[in-house]
Amino acid sequence: MKRPAWGLQSKFIGAIALMLAIVVLVMVLLWNRQQASRHEVSEATRESMRVLLADRMRQDGEAEVRQLADALANPLYYFDLDAIGARARAALRESDVEYVLVYDTQGRILHDGSGDIAAYGQPMSDALAADIIAARGPHARTLGQLLDVSSPVMIGDQRLGGVRIGYSLAGMAMAENAAMGGLRARIDAVGRRDLAWLLLLCAALATIALAAVALVQRLLVQPIRMLGDAARAIEGGDFSTPVPESARNDELGDLVRTFARMRDSVARHDRDIRRVAYSDALTGLSNRLAFRELLDKRLRELQGAGRQLALLFADIDDFKRINDTLGHEAGDEVLLQVAGRIERIVGGHAGAEGCVARFGGDEFVVLLEAGHDSAGTDVRALAKRLAEALVREIGQPMLLHGRQVFLGVSIGVALFPDDAEGASMLMKNGDIAMYQAKVAGKNCHRFYSRSMDQAVERRMRMEHDLRGAWERGELSLAYQPIYRTRDRVLVGAEALLRWQHPEDGAVAPAVFIEVAEQSGMIESIGPEVLRVACREAAQWRTPDGAGEPPFVAVNVSPRQLRSGDLLHQIQAALLDSGLSPARLHVELTETAVISDEAHATALLARLREAGVRVWLDDFGTGYSSLSHLRRVQVDGLKIDRSFITDLLRDPDDLALTSAIVAMAHSMGITVVAEGVEKQGQFELLRDRDCDLVQGYWLGYPVSADAFARLLD
Ligand code: C2E
Ligand code: MG
Ligand code: MG
Repeated sequence: MKRPAWGLQSKFIGAIALMLAIVVLVMVLLWNRQQASRHEVSEATRESMRVLLADRMRQDGEAEVRQLADALANPLYYFDLDAIGARARAALRESDVEYVLVYDTQGRILHDGSGDIAAYGQPMSDALAADIIAARGPHARTLGQLLDVSSPVMIGDQRLGGVRIGYSLAGMAMAENAAMGGLRARIDAVGRRDLAWLLLLCAALATIALAAVALVQRLLVQPIRMLGDAARAIEGGDFSTPVPESARNDELGDLVRTFARMRDSVARHDRDIRRVAYSDALTGLSNRLAFRELLDKRLRELQGAGRQLALLFADIDDFKRINDTLGHEAGDEVLLQVAGRIERIVGGHAGAEGCVARFGGDEFVVLLEAGHDSAGTDVRALAKRLAEALVREIGQPMLLHGRQVFLGVSIGVALFPDDAEGASMLMKNGDIAMYQAKVAGKNCHRFYSRSMDQAVERRMRMEHDLRGAWERGELSLAYQPIYRTRDRVLVGAEALLRWQHPEDGAVAPAVFIEVAEQSGMIESIGPEVLRVACREAAQWRTPDGAGEPPFVAVNVSPRQLRSGDLLHQIQAALLDSGLSPARLHVELTETAVISDEAHATALLARLREAGVRVWLDDFGTGYSSLSHLRRVQVDGLKIDRSFITDLLRDPDDLALTSAIVAMAHSMGITVVAEGVEKQGQFELLRDRDCDLVQGYWLGYPVSADAFARLLD
């Protein structure tokens, strides 16, 4: 975990180091200052000592010179050179005396204390000579390392000459040096003591600073760092990092405890939010987000591990119908029951580990893996077994507010790593496979295969192209004649939708009507078909032998039936075309009617009240139940083509067809046979009293114009 580069501790150490440095600097300055002043003191002392010594030397010199002058007064008066010499030599023998000169009033040298008196009679010619000769009293002067003291020699007021003694100052310098040596030694000792004190002071300060750093580190930096680390961990979503316990009774202790409480509360909120964000509110299952995370995690773990995984994408068939007809509460109830069933089935599936999620709406997803105890089990086989079980179990009737409801489920299966390498791809392919299960007739399962991609693409293109096809004039109606079996008189026609695709040409209705149905486009195309069929039929004239003009039978999709707008659409089409209601027949599939019996029954009753005939199309392919026909009142039923095809070969089909005709007639229902392709079929149907027939043997679907000509 990254720490700030210039942390609290470094800052604090920096500040203390700076303070220490300043203190040391002040100490050094102080020490320097002391050194300087010690030097000044010793210099001043030396100076005053020198003055003092020189003064004393001069006084001593002057006293000695005066004594000598007094002693020389008589010898000089009598000019007794021997006595002068004796006195001078005695003086010269004194310590420090460099020279002794006795001179006359004119300054000529009379004696210098030497034996031969080499300078005798010579005048004194040094710089002091003139002053000395003129002086009336003692005279002292310093000349370099010499002190020159002189005094005139007098008897009474008469001046006889003078005497001069030169003292060497070296002795004095030595004395001075000796004295100064002692002084300096003492000053140095004081300096050393001062230095020692200063160093001690510095050391004490440094120790205090170190102690302060350690204290700050322990009391402030460490706990704050730990809090920082914990905060960063929490920021990263890890709530398990321990927050240091603190028994401290200060602000920081309070902060640490508050922080721990805050962490707990954030963790709690996080858990709550995750629960809400990751689960489906209705069923309590994982939602898309949670599932996606789980899938990503599992795929990462499985990558390269050689293990397989299956994704089952389940979508309830026609779930919208439940919502539309029974209300959303019933829809929720269905979802809950389905979720329960899926969980139960997945949980009870031996040898597999599964996770169930709801993707919103009526989509459920199952992630399936071979269990650890059954390693090596083929996931494909497992998925197949599970998918079959799901289709079977969800297909069991469901009790909803005291009513039995039948549901189907379409399941797409995609395998990892065979069908996809990543989560998104896996989910997309599962979706594609599910879609193919729907296309294949729903209530079944399909495994994903590469060819499905093309199928899906084709289908999506078709959906795209179909949009607006009616407005572009690509859709039209063909009419297939329907004859009365008894006398083969043309009595009506079935309107069949045709799509002329600008590039692909004619598209099979079975294909594009399925697309229109699934995409919901049939809800806009259906009313147009009704309108055009009625308008064109209104133009038809009565053919020979028929008492009235032919009827038109219009196919109505289950979706139109459910939309609740059908009655209004039919009335509008009739009003617009002026077609008599009796000439309009509506073809509905059995399944459309059965799936919502109550609603359909009411609607059909109102249609029939309005005079429109209602036929059941494709009779025999769905849940054909004759008791059903009693409840749902219809005017006719069209026996499905599949029965007619085998009529000549299969005695069962013949028996069934005969039974349907007989039973329908007993209820006053007209029977139409569709898909008559052979004369034999027609004759057989005529023998069995089938009312109406339709098929290629009698007539192909033709354009509106061609059909109008047929009537002529
Ligand atoms: P359907 O209502 O059962 O229509 C009869 C289908 O059987 C028509 O196919 C017709 O051409 C075909 N057929 C008629 N006689 C014979 C025969 O002797 N042999 C064979 N093999 N087939 C014959 P088509 O036109 O391809 O329509 C297929 C289905 O599309 C229709 O089945 C109907 O369910 C649906 N359909 C057609 N037009 C419309 C429409 O305008 N609205 C709706 N909702 N569905 C339509
Ligand atoms: Mg039909
Ligand atoms: Mg049919």
